[in-house]
Amino acid sequence: LLQLSAPLNMLGMMYREVKQAFTNLERLFGLLDERQDVQDRAGAVPLRVSRPRVAFENVRFGYDPRREILQDVSFEIPPGGTVAVVGHSGSGKSTLARLLYRFYDVDAGRIAIADDEGALRDVRDYTQASVRGAIAIVPQDTVLFNDTIYYNILYGRPAAGREEVERAARAAHIHDLIVSLPDGYESEVGERGLKLSGGEKQRVAIARALLKDPAILIFDEATSALDSKSEKAIQAELDRIAVGRTTLVIAHRLSTVMDADEILVMDAGRIVERGAHAQLLALNGHYAQMWRLQQQERQAEAAEAVPASL
Ligand code: ATP
Repeated sequence: LLQLSAPLNMLGMMYREVKQAFTNLERLFGLLDERQDVQDRAGAVPLRVSRPRVAFENVRFGYDPRREILQDVSFEIPPGGTVAVVGHSGSGKSTLARLLYRFYDVDAGRIAIADDEGALRDVRDYTQASVRGAIAIVPQDTVLFNDTIYYNILYGRPAAGREEVERAARAAHIHDLIVSLPDGYESEVGERGLKLSGGEKQRVAIARALLKDPAILIFDEATSALDSKSEKAIQAELDRIAVGRTTLVIAHRLSTVMDADEILVMDAGRIVERGAHAQLLALNGHYAQMWRLQQQERQAEAAEAVPASL
């Protein structure tokens, strides 16, 4: 019985963790009673894909039917490509990710994924387990469990072996830190154990995601301010892990999105501008304004960083 309950427990925790990452807990608790989990449709097929194309087609969605959050959102992520979403807080960016992962179903329109044969199917026509199996999320704030760091990475794919866990940790540049700890991979982390920094936690999340080796990657950039060195490091990390994967980036810093195939600028649940970085700058609209603002903030930060005596 023990043998069975451990993996089941872990699945429950994984589910809760991901959900937590995307949902304000208070709101989640408010919702749990009312909301039915999404169900597999009769005849749903497993999604088998290595380089999926993802399409949002005229998607409408509200957490509450009386308040529409997404209004007619359409975009496409090409196989192995990257789409980045930017916009003010509350504009609906994370909602796109939650819908793709099928925490919720759309109210109108559809989200479709094309398999390797090119057949574009509604996500509701794939089994939920296979869709979630194809997607890994690197959340804004990674929750670490009160367990060993090994176990924390293993969540990415519980069936993985020791070597694979270490390979993922190496690729996420967290292996060296781990082996420098007195207990190595057996070090306890979380509230009762070792405290990792925000950047280190995100590396654990990246290692988890790499272990899962997903065809689709959702990267929810941390909102917390990072110094420009950490920012560059995370950017390099993201670029590396996104190679060959169909990637959706929810970005808070525009520097992260410059290389995306397409950048969507969201405002109040609508895409108000779209294009590549240079195109959006040339448009001289919302994006260009956000860009100028971030540049000014950076300059102000740089000025503040200079000691007054100099
Ligand atoms: P941020 O940049 O702050 O993360 P966002 O652009 O990702 O914001 P979303 O989290 O997608 O914004 O939220 C869009 C809107 O939906 C907001 O008005 C928010 O209050 C609302 N919302 C988000 N989650 C829920 C929920 N679980 N139940 C009800 N409303 C929600």
